[in-house]
Amino acid sequence: MRHQPIAHTPQGVQMRIDGQEFISFCSNDYLGLANHPSVIDALATGAQRWGVGAGAAHLINGHFEPHDELERALAAWLRVERCLLFSTGYMANLAVVGGLVGRGDTVIADRLNHASLVDAAQLSGAKLLRYRHSDPADCERQLIRAAQTGAGNRLILTDGVFSMDGDAAPLAELLALAERYDAWLVVDDAHGFGVWGEGGRGTLSEQGVIDTKLSPPERLIQVGTLGKAFGTAGAFIAGAAQPLEVLRQRARPYLFTTAAPPALAVATLASLRLIREGDARRAAWRAGVAQLRSALAEHGGLMASATPIQPLLIGAADRTVALADALKARGLFVPAIRPPTVPAHSARLRITLSADHSPEMVQRLIDTIQELAPSRAAQ
Ligand SMILES: *Cc1c(COP(=O)(O)O)cnc(C)c1O
Repeated sequence: MRHQPIAHTPQGVQMRIDGQEFISFCSNDYLGLANHPSVIDALATGAQRWGVGAGAAHLINGHFEPHDELERALAAWLRVERCLLFSTGYMANLAVVGGLVGRGDTVIADRLNHASLVDAAQLSGAKLLRYRHSDPADCERQLIRAAQTGAGNRLILTDGVFSMDGDAAPLAELLALAERYDAWLVVDDAHGFGVWGEGGRGTLSEQGVIDTKLSPPERLIQVGTLGKAFGTAGAFIAGAAQPLEVLRQRARPYLFTTAAPPALAVATLASLRLIREGDARRAAWRAGVAQLRSALAEHGGLMASATPIQPLLIGAADRTVALADALKARGLFVPAIRPPTVPAHSARLRITLSADHSPEMVQRLIDTIQELAPSRAAQ
């Protein structure tokens, strides 16, 4: 049974949870925007102006000016033709896959994709082929296999940054494959947007796959979530006009659900401004990552990652849970991630850093890990 912790204070690096004070290393609020004064003000002002509930789906009368403004602002930021808003990332993924492929089509997916992408592929009714994690050669083998069996429309599906490992997909190679084999490339960059890339434009920008002065390639569709670095809630799909219009007309998670509150769109517009001007925040989490990685280099166990997701691989699930509990007893909140969320024997602490962690907070985590889990070399 998993315990359900209750937080008594807002999201942040210092929180009271289940009656105890913690420094938290577990949220996806990488830039510290979930409780940022400008975002809070925007939500409050938005509620005064627009009320609370949207009251209807987007295509009925639940699409308000702030929704429209946010879709345009996100599209302009990413230099795409269109952007569509969703209430959650989970729903955006159901929409993008189910809207572009169905029975008779094929999804070619990374083995370590987020659960919402796995569910989206299964629900779509398309045939699902999986390729070895971040392996373009194996992806190409699956594309060839798909072509031989007359695979209908093809869609390559990947996380931009993998949520439990913190590593990034080889997006240039995957885009080249999409172009060569006439497939869509859908990149779910839930953990990349805001975090890195020019002006926070995500993993494609960080890797130089898209030039943010030009429109991205037609074959590319990006999914972003607003509940992580943006610090608000919801998600978007961004891409060329033609596929995005198909999704607006056909995607069931767009049509058959109430639009998110318009005030939330006002708040997200404020966080988008902070993200665009967020180089100092991005430098701050990078400094924390550098501090953690250099201090724990000799200790070992940190998985290869250049993102705020810094998993410490332990292996056995029971040892991982025991270490997380011991850290909790010292006031450090770091979640233990174990199978089935990750593959067998790869249980880990999923440490996430935020721009708001001070060097002292990171040092406390380093010292406590070294004390509680001495490296094998030191034993
Ligand atoms: C969190 C996450 C989602 C789901 O987004 P929500 O807005 O929380 O529903 C989708 N994809 C990835 C890769 C995620 O990490």
